[in-house]
Amino acid sequence: MSKELSKLPPRIQRFRLRLTRFSPEVKHVSGKSQITADTLSRASTRGPCKTDLDLYDDVLALSDQTIKSLPVTPGRLMEIITKQKADPEILEVRRFCTTRWPAYMPENTLLKQYWTNQQHFTIVNDLLLYNDRIVIPRDLRLDILNRLHESHLGINKCKALAQTSVWWPNISSQIEDMVRKCQTCAKLRPEVREPLLPSSIPERPWIRVAMDLFDYKGNTYLVVTDYYSRKPFFFMCHQQTQVHICHPWHTDNVISDNGPQFASTEFRKFAQEWGFVHTTSSPRYPQSNGAAERVDIHGKENRYKESQQQNFNQRHRAKELPELDPGDTIYIKDLKREAVVVEQHHSPRSYLVRTSQQTTPLRRNRRHLVATPREQPPTTERDETPTIPRNTPSPNRPDYHTSKCGRTIRPPDRLDL
Ligand SMILES: [Zn+2]
Repeated sequence: MSKELSKLPPRIQRFRLRLTRFSPEVKHVSGKSQITADTLSRASTRGPCKTDLDLYDDVLALSDQTIKSLPVTPGRLMEIITKQKADPEILEVRRFCTTRWPAYMPENTLLKQYWTNQQHFTIVNDLLLYNDRIVIPRDLRLDILNRLHESHLGINKCKALAQTSVWWPNISSQIEDMVRKCQTCAKLRPEVREPLLPSSIPERPWIRVAMDLFDYKGNTYLVVTDYYSRKPFFFMCHQQTQVHICHPWHTDNVISDNGPQFASTEFRKFAQEWGFVHTTSSPRYPQSNGAAERVDIHGKENRYKESQQQNFNQRHRAKELPELDPGDTIYIKDLKREAVVVEQHHSPRSYLVRTSQQTTPLRRNRRHLVATPREQPPTTERDETPTIPRNTPSPNRPDYHTSKCGRTIRPPDRLDL
């Protein structure tokens, strides 16, 4: 009873219109207790009275309005009606609507979804509707699917558009399939945050340190943060060379970004000589060098880190991105280029990728890479639906007309069905 009147099938609208004068309270009464209803149904009046005829006119007017508000041109509407009558599956449903629906689910699998939704179907002006949506025959489904998707709005908006205009069995899953296989939609998809990967606390100080350089009042400083104590140490650098940024304490692992000082051959040699492992954050993703980038992190308890991780994941609705395999085609967001995955880098969530313009592989974090589906022609059905070429828009466009105050009134043509 709470549903909007225009969203109901015209058949149900008639009952709702009759009840608008009342505010009924609906209660279930078992059939054997409905003595009055049974008596009245046996003593029906001879013909419809004037009130009934008036109501019938109102219902017809409302049905006409439902048809006029559909985003479809009259020419296209006729085409849909003709194709509905030529489609054996829809022809059967039309027959059920005008006679009666079978008491049990039909054996024909194609009719099962229609049968389970039987209360939603109605025929208005020779057009089969699902509530206020047009039931699209199989021949036109691919064309309509292309029109719903032509703006590459993503799954939710394409579905919302369909919910205001068209229906057929499994339309939602077909929209999802089409958008998932679309390269343009994949490139335009909003960024998904991945769950925080907190670094574990080492067993003793100076096992693992993070390093970063920064400038302050014309001088360059090196900040070294110990992962155990989270204590930062600052050193002034007289020259930005690897010799000056080293320090005498022994460490097993140095974590830094990809600055030229850290990415240089000299630093690599230095790491080999002193026997520590040098790990760099993903290029263009310095957040992963968290200890040095955020020296003000307090506390070293695992509980604190767990709650921090939980908060981050909840706040950003983080979810793990699927892993990529060598040979997968991807799109690099920051370079706006397509590339192929070469291999997974030893650092977490890091990949080596190669574009067609470059011979040496690039390293990128997983969040910069969008897995693009391989180009393949879309289909409308998982079963044996033939794919059809896209129809051209119907030439029978209605003319625009002008209102009394001079405003141009344009018929709805969003989908140009
Ligand atoms: Zn798309």
